[in-house]
Amino acid sequence: MGKGPALGVDVLRTVWDTLRAERGGEATIRRLQRERLRRLVRHARTASPYYRSLYQGLPARVTDPRLLPPVSKRDLMAHFDDWVTDPDITLAGLKRDFLPDLSLVGRPYLGRYHVFTTSGTTGEPAVVVHDRASWQVLHIVARLRARRALRVWRLMPVLGRRGVRSAVLLATGGHYGGVVLAESVRRRSPFLARRVRVLSVLRPVEELVAELNEYQPTLLSAYPSALALVAEEQIAGRLRISPLQAITAGEEMTDEYRREIDAAFEGLRVVQGYAASEVPGLAIGCNEGSFHVNTDWYLFEPVDERYQPVPAGTTSHTVLVTNLANLVQPLIRYDLGDRVEVATAPCPCGSRLPAVKVEGRANDVLTFQSPEGRAVRILPLALGAVVEETPGVHRFQAVGTGPTTLTVRLDTLQDADPDEVWNTVAERVTAFLAAHGAAGVAVERAHEPPTVDARSGKFRQVWSA
Ligand SMILES: [Zn+2]
Repeated sequence: MGKGPALGVDVLRTVWDTLRAERGGEATIRRLQRERLRRLVRHARTASPYYRSLYQGLPARVTDPRLLPPVSKRDLMAHFDDWVTDPDITLAGLKRDFLPDLSLVGRPYLGRYHVFTTSGTTGEPAVVVHDRASWQVLHIVARLRARRALRVWRLMPVLGRRGVRSAVLLATGGHYGGVVLAESVRRRSPFLARRVRVLSVLRPVEELVAELNEYQPTLLSAYPSALALVAEEQIAGRLRISPLQAITAGEEMTDEYRREIDAAFEGLRVVQGYAASEVPGLAIGCNEGSFHVNTDWYLFEPVDERYQPVPAGTTSHTVLVTNLANLVQPLIRYDLGDRVEVATAPCPCGSRLPAVKVEGRANDVLTFQSPEGRAVRILPLALGAVVEETPGVHRFQAVGTGPTTLTVRLDTLQDADPDEVWNTVAERVTAFLAAHGAAGVAVERAHEPPTVDARSGKFRQVWSA
């Protein structure tokens, strides 16, 4: 139980293939993509009733992804039991035996699958299941492809001297990607459990600061907004740590965050990841400010409103992704919802993988006023976790409408009583804000349901009006 990838032939093969793809460039990657897509499509057609029906009428052998109809989160979730290729997995079973139990975060489901829950950019909740191969690819690809940006060869000797202590600053309370990853590492051995610590950003900032001061992490993983918050504490002198490396993901790294982080921590290397629970090893940032997509394992097709390809140098409407490693829950031309732009020229960093810019996921850090008149900053993803993990919530949006008011738009599940769900949400959010020092903030229920932003066409979750 809880073992990481066994160091077997398949691991060595993945490492070898990953290095070979880097060296071989486009031709090698295209060949690997064709082989892997053919295998994935064949498996989906055989073992997933959903894809069998979707793909009937297509040629027997498919190597060109453009033949395949795109899929959406909503559709896949509506057909969950027919979507997965292992009949032992059912949505009802997951919701009954696994997802509600937070002591199981990071533990393999049925002894062999890793499970994430997510809302993502569309606000639509999803349950994502990864098989062993997909998990292995995530670990191997993420590590190998980040080695240059992290300057691993310089980092290693210092880490050896100062010790590996990794603090993971994320919202807990659900089977969220980053937390599942960290907890699965912790479960491998008591040694690793001491080396990795998950600190929930749902806790009051003073508590986080105290624990970080005591733990003295050398490595940090966090949302950009959480890292910026920690940076502010360091600048204010309450926090005194000197981390060597930080990995961020899940949100846009704004210039403002970046300035705060650089001002707070001298010599800290920050590497950004761009990924989603469905494609967890998707892309890693380089020192030139681009993300390089791991296209040998994840197909990446920027498209317009009609799902037609858009050329490099143009911002897409959305992007279709395919996880070539995961056979248990095939994600093939899946609408990820992000607007992206592929670079037209090779990246100066030397990577031969496509370089992309991603339009930020548009959440705001909210600022409220404490009863004493102090400014209290609330991380959007922490607030999101509090609302989303309330039983009966389907989707939500939270808008900071003033220094002491928060408006919440709520979509409840069909079998839930909307008023009861609302009361619980209001109670939980009020308690959460109070714990952070923003007691007395009025949490108001919006008349309108959650809606897509008319201007950007994106689903924003938390912002300030
Ligand atoms: Zn680059």
